[in-house]
This record gives sequence, structure tokens and C-alpha cells, in this order.
Amino acid sequence: MSDGNVAHDNHIFKRFFMIACLVVGLCVSAIFLALAMRSKTLLFDQMVAQARAHFQSIVITRKWSAQHGGVYVIKRPGMQSNPYLETPDIEIADGRVLTLKNPALMTREISELANENNIFTFRITSLHPLNPDNTPDSFETIALREFEAGVNEYVITEKTPKGERLRYMAPLFVEQSCLTCHAHQGYSVGQVRGGISVSLSIEEVNKALRQNNLIIAGLNLVTVGLLLATLGFFFRQMRNRIHKTQEMLLHMATTDMLTNVANRASLMHRFKDVFFRQRRNATNLGCLMIDVDHFKAVNDRYGHPQGDTVLKELAAIISPCLRPYDTFGRYGGEEFMMIIDGVDADMLATIAERTRAEVEAKLGKNAGLAEVVTISLGGTLVEPKDQDIDDIIRRADEALYKAKHQGRNRVVLLTNYAGYGKPLVP
Ligand code: GH3
Ligand code: MG
Ligand code: MG
Repeated sequence: MSDGNVAHDNHIFKRFFMIACLVVGLCVSAIFLALAMRSKTLLFDQMVAQARAHFQSIVITRKWSAQHGGVYVIKRPGMQSNPYLETPDIEIADGRVLTLKNPALMTREISELANENNIFTFRITSLHPLNPDNTPDSFETIALREFEAGVNEYVITEKTPKGERLRYMAPLFVEQSCLTCHAHQGYSVGQVRGGISVSLSIEEVNKALRQNNLIIAGLNLVTVGLLLATLGFFFRQMRNRIHKTQEMLLHMATTDMLTNVANRASLMHRFKDVFFRQRRNATNLGCLMIDVDHFKAVNDRYGHPQGDTVLKELAAIISPCLRPYDTFGRYGGEEFMMIIDGVDADMLATIAERTRAEVEAKLGKNAGLAEVVTISLGGTLVEPKDQDIDDIIRRADEALYKAKHQGRNRVVLLTNYAGYGKPLVP
């Protein structure tokens, strides 16, 4: 496989790998992000449930108080009577004074106690409060309007100087027991009379969430890292396997299995390449056609397998004599071809003769035969008039035919052209 192809394949693999990394990275990160968001939602829901529970316990307490028309407590020194009741105080038989804590006052006083502890705070408010202290703030006003439009509860988070808080509000509906104090405001049973807003600090929850997010981000990084490393490992393995398979296929497609030299397809491909390069650069190019003499007789005498050995040995004798930029291959049967770059007619004749002599001296012996096996060579140079490699092959074949005709084991060059600028035959 050529370096260019390998580089191209590597580039494609790199692109695939980058895309796979991106997809895996994004998918895993999306999963972790969804996890983080789910944790946040769950914690938020938890906080809302907590605020709702506070609201309900206040409502139940108020309901109990309203069912009894409020509760009387012993009026201690400094204790103020409810200014919104006509007769909040009564004196009992032993002379002590009791003051009435109606549901609204009781709610406010419990709220003040909760505020002091800063665990959670709550307020009872109304768009039409009897007590101006119960006037709603902006969040409560919006919530109250929503309740009148049919909304059941209203939740926001709010940044305050004391930290972030969750604000929850739900409506209070007019019940029969409420009309004792509020009938003059024109309320009727079932109407939204106001609401209770609960406020909880979510600073601790936010801190826990931040820690949770850090852990999730860390896990995300480790998971993505491990996945990418695994992916990288398998990609490399796959790339190496594909390269090896490609090399094997290329070898099988271009090599003659018997002699392990270039096959005809590869030989012609390479010949075309060098031919057109020679055309561009106006350099010399030689072609030698080689044919084993009386090979049929070798097969007949020693058997076909032994004939195969002769062909293998012939390739083994010629291959090492070539320069790296020359090409040698099996043209078909017992015919081989050499494409020799940058030679003039003299050099081509020398190479051909040297090859012939080398084969004559070694082939029979190397193949384990009792006789000498020779080859005939027909050669030619590429000439400016040649249009295609077929023209050259035809001439080399003609030269080979002449060599056979003249008695075999010889070289015949058929060209009147000795190279650019130097005719062989005047
Ligand atoms: P010449 O000197 O004129 O070339 O005679 P030759 O006998 O070599 O030529 P011919 O074309 O008559 O015979 C070629 C033989 O090569 C015939 C064929 O069986 C044999 N042959 C072709 N391919 C193979 C091969 O792969 N293995 C073997 N053992 N023989 C082969
Ligand atoms: Mg032949
Ligand atoms: Mg032959």
C-alpha cells in the first residue's frame, strides 16, 4: 500500500475517531447533565413538599382555632389585646383577665416565633387585609391574584440579603367559622379570602446541590475519559487490522502466486505509469520479453510440479538483479517481462545478455534438473512514435519471436532508436 493511501486512510480514521469521540462525549455528558437536572428537580420538589406541609399544619391549627371561635389566654403584663375585635378581653370569676387570640392573631404570633428561629417564616396575607401588617408584598400580591384566577399554589425562588429562599403560597378559602370576623367585608363561603405564604432558606440545599454537581461533573469526566480511551484502543486495533487486510488483498491482487513477482495486471499498470512519465520527461525506457526455451519439453520430461519449480527459480534468479525502480513480472505462462527505466539501447542489450547468461548458468541447477535451461529475450526501447504500451509489447514480442527463430538462448533487440537523440541504426 502506498504511503499516500495510508496517510489518506489515517486521515479518515482520525475523522471517524473525532466524530465518535464527539458523539460519545456529548451523549455521556447529556446523560450526566440530565442526572444533575433531575437531582435539582427532586430536591426542589422536596423543598416545595416541605413548604406545603408547613402550610397545611398552619391551616389545620387555624381551623382548630376557628372551630372554637379563637382561644382565650391569660393576659399577662405587656400583652396587647387584639385591636380588631370589639371585646377581646373578659374577666373571669377569680379576677384574672383573659384575652382572645382569634385565628388571625394566633397565626401572626406563631409566624413571629418561627421568624425568630429563622427556620422558616410564614405570613398570612390578603388583598383586603383587616390588619395593615398583613398587606401582601409583590410575590404575595401576584400569587393572590393567581389564586383568584383558580391557581392552587404558587412557588418561586428569590434571592434575598440572607441568601436564596423558596417562597411558597397557597390560598385560604372562606369557611363558615371565618364569617364571625370577616362577614362585614362581604365574603361568602368558598371564596378566596387570602393566603399563607411560607418562605424557606434553600442555601443548604443549594450547597448540597453544588457538591452533587461537582461529583457528577467529575464522574462525567472520568466516564468520558475511560470511554474515549477504550474507543481509541479499539479504533487503533481496527485500523491496524484493516491496513493488514488491505495489504494482504493488494498483495493478492498484484502478485503472481506461483513466482511471487508482479502479476500481469500489476505489470501492465506499472508499465502504463512509467510509459506516460517517460512521455512527460522524455527519458529512455526499455522493455524485455523473456520466454523459457522448450519449456513444454521440461514439463513433459520432469512433470508439471518440476516445471513450476523452474518458473519459481527463474523469478528468484532475475528479481535480485533489478534496480528498485525497474519492474519485473510474470506476463503469462512461462513468459516474463522486464521494464527498465533510464536505459539506452546499449545498456538494454547489456542487461538482457547478463540476464540470459545468469539464467543459463543457474536455472537448471537451481531447479534440480540434470540439464541446462535457457531463456530467449526480445527487447526494445520506447520510441517517440509509440502511442501506447501495446505498441512496445508488440515490438518486444516480435524481437522475442526472432530470438526463438534464430535458435533460442539469445537476445534480440528490435529498435532503430538508441534513446533520445541517439539512433542505434543509422
Ligand atoms: P519455446 O522454446 O518455443 O518457447 O517452446 P516452449 O515449449 O517453451 O513453448 P510452448 O508455448 O509450446 O509451451 C509453453 C508451455 O508452458 C506450455 C504450458 O503447459 C507450460 N506452462 C504454462 N504455464 C505453466 C505453469 O504455470 N506451470 C508449468 N509447469 N507449465 C506451464
Ligand atoms: Mg511461450
Ligand atoms: Mg517457451
